[in-house]
Amino acid sequence: ERKQLNRLRREPSRTLDGVDIKLWANAESREDVADAHALGAAGVGLYRTEFLFLGSSELPDEEAQLRAYRDLVLGMTGRTVTIRTLDLGADKADRTGLTLDHEPNPALGLRGVRLSLARADLFDTQLRAIARASGYGPVRVLVPMVSSREEIVAARARLQRVCRQLRDEGFEVAESIPLGAMIEVPAAAIALPGFIHALDFLSIGTNDLVQYLLAVDRNNDALGELYTPLHPAVIRLLHDTIRSARARGKPVAVCGEMAGDAAFVPLLLALGLEEFSLHPATMLEVRRAIRGCDLGALRARAAALLRMRDRAGIEGWLREC
Ligand code: PEP
Ligand code: MG
Repeated sequence: ERKQLNRLRREPSRTLDGVDIKLWANAESREDVADAHALGAAGVGLYRTEFLFLGSSELPDEEAQLRAYRDLVLGMTGRTVTIRTLDLGADKADRTGLTLDHEPNPALGLRGVRLSLARADLFDTQLRAIARASGYGPVRVLVPMVSSREEIVAARARLQRVCRQLRDEGFEVAESIPLGAMIEVPAAAIALPGFIHALDFLSIGTNDLVQYLLAVDRNNDALGELYTPLHPAVIRLLHDTIRSARARGKPVAVCGEMAGDAAFVPLLLALGLEEFSLHPATMLEVRRAIRGCDLGALRARAAALLRMRDRAGIEGWLREC
């Protein structure tokens, strides 16, 4: 079984009817990056940068961040890496004192891009390190917890300013650094048609999207099965988001845990998804599932999926794949 799976390292992630699906890796360590490379990932679709801030009580300066991002870029040998700006807060604990100590509801608090925009000094330091790493290979910037157009406009303005400054200082910076948003706050998904033109790419964070859409804490075991992507509201919002992106030619991936679960592959393909970002641990299983799917047949069943009224219906739909 393991041996058979291992043979897929060198095989394409191609459906039975010949469509290539892009498999990006989620990574946050040197080992993840090495695994992603060895497994034939298209690139890194989600590089979580929190770990740089969690290890010590001191904030990593520009040089320390540059070292991490440059290692990532060089480790992927020319494949694109997607660096997510700091997403501290809520479930991502913090020892630096950056996040507020006593927020009454941290999941709805000063986190993700909100914190970055409130602390422009920190944000600029991170953007400078990312932009300098782009001198070594293709880099994209991904902004977490976006809920409005203004946030992405503000982030882009800061990135452009930082790139200009670095070039003036004599650093090599890529000509273009695509900027994307995590779609993980329901408001961003619903308002997307109004600001998708401001994005170069999208990545759907189902971990948080499910939490906020269903009002179910992603880490509260007492809620059991209530935390699930198999809810008609989740399916509907995934469908609409993917369709908006495809209609405007913007690359769109799912980077939440959902994308790393082979059981959900037919569902995501039916909804039009052609890019997955997942931890290397399940990349071969997901590749195998993709290679067993007929995309044309799945798309033809998308309407039936969208008509399902509850979890049992969606599970029934999946069983027939
Ligand atoms: C998500 O929310 O789906 C996601 C990928 O990011 P994180 O799990 O880091 O919040
Ligand atoms: Mg998230």
